[in-house]
Amino acid sequence: MAETNTAELQQEEKGLNFVEQIIADDLKEGKNSGRIQTRFPPEPNGYLHIGHAKAICMDFGAAEKFGGKCFLRFDDTNPTKEDTEYVDAIRDDIHWLGFDWGENERYASDYFQQLYDLAVRLIKEGKAYVDDQTSEEIASQKGTPTTPGTNSPYRDRSVEENLDLFERMNKGEFPEGARVLRAKIDMASSNMHFRDPVMYRIIHTPHHRTGTHWKVYPMYDFAHGQSDFFEGVTHSICTLEFVPHRPLYDYFVDFLSDGTYRPRQIEFNRLNLTYTVMSKRKLLQLVNEGLVSGWDDPRMPTLSGMRRRGFTSKGVRNFIDRIGYTKIEEAMISVSLLEHAVREDLNAIATRAMAVMNPVKVVIDNYPEGQVETVEMENNPEDPSAGTHKMPFSREIFIERDDFMENPPKKFFRLAPGSEVRLKGAYIVKCVGVDKDAEGNITTIHCEYDPESRSGLPGASRKVKGTLHWVSAPHAVDATARLYDRLFSCENPSAEDGDFRDLLNPDSLKIVEGIKVEPFIAENARQSEKFQFQRVGYFTPDYDSKEGNLVFNRTIALKDSWEKAQKK
Ligand code: ATP
Ligand code: MG
Repeated sequence: MAETNTAELQQEEKGLNFVEQIIADDLKEGKNSGRIQTRFPPEPNGYLHIGHAKAICMDFGAAEKFGGKCFLRFDDTNPTKEDTEYVDAIRDDIHWLGFDWGENERYASDYFQQLYDLAVRLIKEGKAYVDDQTSEEIASQKGTPTTPGTNSPYRDRSVEENLDLFERMNKGEFPEGARVLRAKIDMASSNMHFRDPVMYRIIHTPHHRTGTHWKVYPMYDFAHGQSDFFEGVTHSICTLEFVPHRPLYDYFVDFLSDGTYRPRQIEFNRLNLTYTVMSKRKLLQLVNEGLVSGWDDPRMPTLSGMRRRGFTSKGVRNFIDRIGYTKIEEAMISVSLLEHAVREDLNAIATRAMAVMNPVKVVIDNYPEGQVETVEMENNPEDPSAGTHKMPFSREIFIERDDFMENPPKKFFRLAPGSEVRLKGAYIVKCVGVDKDAEGNITTIHCEYDPESRSGLPGASRKVKGTLHWVSAPHAVDATARLYDRLFSCENPSAEDGDFRDLLNPDSLKIVEGIKVEPFIAENARQSEKFQFQRVGYFTPDYDSKEGNLVFNRTIALKDSWEKAQKK
């Protein structure tokens, strides 16, 4: 007990997670001549999600920490599902996270010839055979973890016949599914992955890089370890579900390694997040069926979705740092932890500005008609170097409809008949009446202002209970806000019975048209600019914005930081 604590302490002192500790120990032992090389191996069959970010931070982070290299290797072994659109998106997302692989971009397809040659060698050594059975027949012979499997009737084919058939499989002489190449290992092995695993299958779909050159494609287990070896990877870091694959990984690498160098597979726990799904198959389904607007829909757990929504890569990386890496499969990480990290970063960097989401007009009756003053607004109280910007003030302004009540309860510190509030950065106003339409809805609120109450004037320090955000009506710019909520209405959609699509949250997107933003926001609504609409939330312009129709994504709500700040 005491020992583990000390070990843990030392580890913490050095700031190393358990994977990095293994790497540090390997370095100390002089393994692989002190070389450190990792890889991130995405399959280009979808966009990257927040789970991949965890793997990326590990793979690239460990290489950085030890002065090594991290390769980006596309695991492009299944042309039926892969596409160059995904390759490009994956590159963009890794760059966005802040990592770079330089020259070291590779593809599993770079090694197709070497893998094919190894397969031929295994056939010649009597360690692989062509099986003519269907995948169902093969599956039915697998056995169970407690009962041995059954040998295929094709297991003892001659080397010549196997060589001939494998070559003809690759020439396209047989239809897909007609035959596979299997490793001849042990149908009674306690590790199911050793029960004559499939090495190659026939696929006739052209490949996005190698075209129609190949008609046989290696399975993951026959491609991954060897690709690591061909590339010079020293530490092949992946998620826990690959633990039972590791002996097979080592088995195939043994045919290549002379013992002076070999890659080592290390596994960590994968990330699962509440209120979403992380399976690429399910995410693809949401995209294809139009249940979201695309891979980068801001409700998606994808990095492109998060980026579009306004999450910062720093927020995402801080979140990954905090959850850490272990060997224990964790059920679920709360998405609010991610949101907290993003909010923390946005609080430090977002430009403060005023926008009114549900506007009602206020006329300041005693303010001179036609007069416009400018008030100075701090861009970020957390960062004085961010400077200030100017905001027009005039006789007619918009405030939030919710910030006024005709018959307020006791502790309502916002605007009500006869009560006073400060308009943030400007004057104190008092409500003197309201106009209503035929249905009794308030159309205009009438106020009078205290001309001495502005900053720099004698009444500036006068205290009132509430402070409201506002936008000058003649200067306000109309815009649209998209407000996002959880994509699913239950914490763990993957654990529920039935169709996961039935669990989608019907209120995950709310579109609010006609919000009023101050001119400064409109002038600075460049893509990826981060705003805090004061008292409302964090927002970022969407690429759907057009001249005359600005669209903002609400990245995340503010929580109650404003109320807290006011109570101080
Ligand atoms: P699939 O193989 O089902 O298409 P995948 O999510 O495993 O999906 P890959 O492109 O193979 O997709 O993943 C690339 C790397 O990212 C792998 O090393 C994998 O272990 C890692 N990874 C994937 N999902 C997660 C996750 N939720 N948490 C941590 N790492 C993950
Ligand atoms: Mg995978």
